[in-house]
Formats: sequence, structure tokens, C-alpha cells
Amino acid sequence: MTAPAGNFHDRVEKALHDPQLKIAIERTTGNARRKRAAAVAAWPDFEAARAAAAAIKDHAIEHMAFYLEMFERNALASGALVHWARDADEACRIVVDLCKAAGAKTVTRSKSMLGEEIGLPHALAGAGLRRVETDLAEHIIQLAGETPSHIIWPAAHRTAEDVAKLFDQYHHEKPPAHDVVSMVGSARKELRADFFAAEVGISGANFLVAETGAICTITNEGNAELTTTPPRVHIVTAGIEKIVASTEHALQLTRLLVRSATGADLTQYTTFHCGPKRPGDRDGPEQFHIVLVDHGRTQMLAEMPDMLRCLRCGACLNHCVVYRAIGGHAYGGAYPGPMGSVLTPVFDGLERTRDLPTACTLNGQCKQVCPVDIPLPTLLRHWRARSWRAGYEPKISSAAVKAWAYVAARPALYRLAQAFALPAMRLFAREGWISSLPLASGWTASRDFPKPPRQTFLTTIKKGGKENRKP
Ligand code: SF4
Repeated sequence: MTAPAGNFHDRVEKALHDPQLKIAIERTTGNARRKRAAAVAAWPDFEAARAAAAAIKDHAIEHMAFYLEMFERNALASGALVHWARDADEACRIVVDLCKAAGAKTVTRSKSMLGEEIGLPHALAGAGLRRVETDLAEHIIQLAGETPSHIIWPAAHRTAEDVAKLFDQYHHEKPPAHDVVSMVGSARKELRADFFAAEVGISGANFLVAETGAICTITNEGNAELTTTPPRVHIVTAGIEKIVASTEHALQLTRLLVRSATGADLTQYTTFHCGPKRPGDRDGPEQFHIVLVDHGRTQMLAEMPDMLRCLRCGACLNHCVVYRAIGGHAYGGAYPGPMGSVLTPVFDGLERTRDLPTACTLNGQCKQVCPVDIPLPTLLRHWRARSWRAGYEPKISSAAVKAWAYVAARPALYRLAQAFALPAMRLFAREGWISSLPLASGWTASRDFPKPPRQTFLTTIKKGGKENRKP
């Protein structure tokens, strides 16, 4: 993925001053939260299903090598070709070479976050291939020259009014009206010819099914089927963590994934693709390639295997107070929100991305809604600790924490420091809050600090719980 402009703080500042962004994000995530809550309420066994889903993924992760080999054997037997890619560059090179070998000029693509993760859109453009995004939201952001801002709704940052302007400007025929039906119809018409002109269709995979060698795609628009069926060549790019043992397991996870993402029982299209077209088949690709991508997943297997359970449902984004305030682009990676703050340091390095785990409030909402119970706050704390140990944090913060640790380990000194600090801090408070504090301007520049009480908790307890309640 190309690095976005500015540093994290600049991007956050820009996002916080964009009222349109806030409206668009709240519209999308608010709807998603309400629908998910209704779906969970209507499923009495939700917690049991969640535990079972986590166990299904843990089993596949624990036996990943075994199931990946089984998947490869069965995929080969179905006529597919399997390619292994250690990292993003190798994955892109394989896909580009396959497109060139197919003599492709136009390539259709259905939404795949892995594609964004490995920078596939740029690799295709670099090879002179015309890329057509076929998911409606991806089509919108392709017209706008943007990257996705949400893993389920890539155009979550855009209002319907924005989209109408884009379609008026770029579609060969302007939509007859700016209502949703007309605009969807306009996109459908615009994309139709490309579905049939493309020589290669590229998809992701929600699951890789070991027992059959099939890959599963889940969409609401049917664009994955139109991307993968008419072209002569179908290329799948999938992270190795998408492996599951059986079709039964894939379906059990699908129930959780869809409810957590959209609140629906099922998406409109759940398709298992198994090998190329066979003799007698009316349609389907002549070649079926599956590119299995590691790109940091083996490292995660050793360091944070829980994260490999992620189904990419987006629920943690929708419930995150930080994501809802700043949207997806401010995060700067392919994956935003809590799951992105855990994943991006794996892909882009902790030194460059240490701000992401630090920007979390650790309120725990993400873990609570995650359909596979990933302990996101714990994983974020893991990165924070690593960042301190590696010396990536600013020298001043590091010195302050060391000083605090020294004082905190000496009770008499600690009490003395408190005796001075509390009254001093109270001098800077206005209407119950401290907005600016010498030596802590980095903190107070973006946060207010509550006015400290007159006496410490310990003093209050010693006095029999009688706190001086005067502010
Ligand atoms: S971390 Fe959990 S909630 Fe977030 S996208 Fe992954 S599966 Fe969904």
C-alpha cells in the first residue's frame, strides 16, 4: 500500500476538522451497530456460536500447515494451480505475471482487503493493466482516486451527495436521477461491459476449504461471480489464515461473519469456487489460480496467533470511538480501526506505526463485539510494550515514565511528590478541567485533564472516607 500523506497526527487533525466525514461515518457505523445488535438479540445462542467459531479458527490455526497442504492437494485435484507467496512483492509479481501470460489488458477485481494490503492495485497499474473495481463502493473510490476507509464499506466516508457528483462527472451516461436506485443502475450499466471484456478476474477469498480445495466468496452484489466467471482466467489472492478444515466450518463462520458485519442472516451470494470450468460446463474460467500469501502471518502465528482468527467483519471498527471520530484514512494502512492498529505494525513495521496502538482508549468494546473473541486490547498493549522496549517512544515520554517509576517505587518520596503536585496542578484548572499543563503539553494539546481532588485517595481512606468535596 502506498503511504498516505502526512503523519498520523496530521491526518487525525485533518479528519477531526471534517464535519462531512463525521456525518458519513456515523451514518454507516450507526446503522451497522443497530443491525448487529438486533441480529445478536434474535440469536439466543450467539455467545455459544461465538465460542464455537473461535474454536474452529483456533483448530485451523493450530494445524495450519496440515490443512494448507490438504487444501493444496484438493485444489490441484480440482484443476486449480496453487502459488505460494512469502510477502507482498512476491504475491503481486505472481499476479502480474499471470495477467501478462493471459495477454490481459483489462482486469476486473472484486473487493479484497488482502489486495489492498499487498498493494495489488498499484502493481497492476505499474504493469500497464487496466483495473476495474466491480464492488459498488470500490467503484466509487476508484472514481474518486481513493483507498478504502472501511473494510466492509470502502466508501463509508462518502455521502450519497458526493457519490452523485462523482457519477455525474465520470459515468459515460449521467444517472437519470440522484436516488439510490438510479445511481446503482448507473454503476451497473457502467460496469457491465467490463465484466465481459476482462481477460482476467481477480477475487479474494473469505475461506479456503481444506477438505474440498474450494475457495468461498461472500458478497451482496453478485460482483464476485461476474468477476470470476466470464473471464478466461480467475486469480484468487488469499491470506493463509483463511484456511478452515471443512465446508461445515466455513458455513458456521459465515453465520457469525455476516451477522457481525451487516446484521443480516446471510449475504445475497455465498459461492464456493472449485477449480476451472470442466468439459461440458457452459461457463467458468479456463484457468483457476490460487495465490496463498503469508506476508507476516507466520510471524503472527508465533507472536499473536489470536489475531489470525480475524474474519474481517468490521464490527470492531463500527464500535470503536476512535474510528468513529477519525474515519479510516487517518490510520494510514489498508486496515483501519482496532484490528488495523494490531495488523498494520505487522505489515509496515512497529517503528513507523507505533502511534496506532497508542491511539486506542482500551475501552474494550472491540473485544466485546468481535465474533471470534479476539483480545484486541491485549494485543494493542502488546505493541505498546514492544514499542517501549524497542525505544521507539519519544525520549521525553521515556524519561518521564522512568522518573515516575523511580518515585512510585519509594512511598515516602511518592507522597512528598503528590503533596506538591496536586495543589500545583489545581492552579492550572479552569471550570474543572486542565487544558494546558507545563511539561505535559504533548498530552494536553489533544486531551483535557480532570482537575485533581484536594486530597489523595489514600488520605481520604485514612480519614475514614471523608473526602473534602469542595471542588
Ligand atoms: S478483529 Fe474481530 S471484530 Fe474486528 S474485523 Fe476481525 S473478526 Fe471482526
